[in-house]
Amino acid sequence: MNHMGNTMNTNAWDIVIGLEVHAQVTLASKLFSPCLIGRDGVANRHVHFVDAAMPGMLPILNKDAITQAVRTGLALNAEINLFSRFDRKHYFYADLPQGYQISQYHHPIVGRGALPFTADDGTEKSLSVTRLHLEQDAGKSIHDAHPSYSLIDLNRSGVTLMEIVFEPELHSAQDAGAAMRALRALLRAIGSCDGNMEEGNLRADVNVSVHRTGEPLGTRTETKNLNSIRFIQQAITFEAHRQIELLTRGEAVAQQTRLFDSKTGETYAMRSKEEAHDYRYFPDPDLPPLHISAAWVDEIKASLPELPHHRRARFCRHYHLTTDQANLLADDPDIAHYFEAVAKNHESQDVARWMVGDLFAFLNKNNLTIDECPVTHHDLSDLLDQIKNGTLSQRLAKEVFHELTQTPNHKVADIIKSKGMAQISDDDTLAAIISEVLAQHGDKVADYQGGKDKLFGFFVGQVMAATKGQANPQKVSQLLRDALQKSV
Ligand code: ADP
Ligand code: MG
Repeated sequence: MNHMGNTMNTNAWDIVIGLEVHAQVTLASKLFSPCLIGRDGVANRHVHFVDAAMPGMLPILNKDAITQAVRTGLALNAEINLFSRFDRKHYFYADLPQGYQISQYHHPIVGRGALPFTADDGTEKSLSVTRLHLEQDAGKSIHDAHPSYSLIDLNRSGVTLMEIVFEPELHSAQDAGAAMRALRALLRAIGSCDGNMEEGNLRADVNVSVHRTGEPLGTRTETKNLNSIRFIQQAITFEAHRQIELLTRGEAVAQQTRLFDSKTGETYAMRSKEEAHDYRYFPDPDLPPLHISAAWVDEIKASLPELPHHRRARFCRHYHLTTDQANLLADDPDIAHYFEAVAKNHESQDVARWMVGDLFAFLNKNNLTIDECPVTHHDLSDLLDQIKNGTLSQRLAKEVFHELTQTPNHKVADIIKSKGMAQISDDDTLAAIISEVLAQHGDKVADYQGGKDKLFGFFVGQVMAATKGQANPQKVSQLLRDALQKSV
């Protein structure tokens, strides 16, 4: 980026972005074979004859894949096509043993829809979905495991992908990131994809073009296979600047497929449109056209869980959360469940502050999901109870929270007991400590009573020190005032 200079004037230009997203569908088995999906990492262990394209093997459509595609389509408020069809898309690659990928080209299962998303400034926006179709993933070529051979792992061969194509309606890298986050939350909420971008289970091809404001759309480039939201945003920013610079110099943007280098944040050309494949699509003769019934679609619709944007709205309404809090607490179903479990018994603002603060800080720092968090919603609820009943000050509560993060199955009450952490709120105990402090500092008591009000803080400090910080500060102030009054 830097060599292009960040001072370039991009104001006269409009950026146009269209996303094509591949989402690996969460399923027990593959799209056209009964082979169970393996997570043991052993190469070529999860390969059925169909996935290895053995001669004479026939594909059998996995009904659950259709269900997940329909669920996703419904969640995107999209048209569900009761008629769809599978086509062969031909190309040669060593990790594609069939010599073609089975995809849906002319008749996708899902048509036009919309993805609601919240822009970074809080504005509610919507991105049109062009289509969603099902297709097989290819295997994996491994080029760096052997000095002179490339190796092939077919475990991924035949795994189900949904390709979701969006209209070229985005105009900034920020919005593209926000839309991807919303899509990931939506897929996770309905469970059709785990949304794990790092592992490549959700990845995007990013189409970018630029044009002078008011003029027709420019020539686009497509940057392939971006597997993080940051990379998507970096690739868009780089491409937009690169294209604006070319056009400003009077040169043309070549229609290209490009790749992204995450080390430099730059894109580079992979192939031009002239080299584009002719895939020779035709209907797969082994798979009859797919007909589904409207009644089945209705059944699926009725079984969908609450969607993130609906939950966000409900959290704002019902728990009086801010938009930012709702975004953080409602998008992920597990986080939302945790929040609601604690908020059942406590002030929603207290719960939101603890979660967005200490809890998320801990999860982020240790790269944990909320399910892996040693502090359960029961623990947080107990902790808030102990604050409410005066046993713990905010400071002590933070210490207990820290202890909870250190050892799983640790209970709040046990930590308080074993660490002798309880806040001292008992009147008699505090009164005794206060009289001792005042007796030790008779001269200062006299000064205070002579008008040196500022000494009050000194007495509070002495009591806190005497109790190793465990005295309830409100109680101390109140009892100290009484005691100083009385000893006049
Ligand atoms: P292809 O099948 O060749 O990839 P499509 O017309 O299906 O082409 O478009 C693919 C993607 O490109 C879509 O996500 C769409 O939004 C995006 N797109 C189309 N035109 C433009 C453009 N001028 N600028 C940016 N993105 C575009
Ligand atoms: Mg494309």
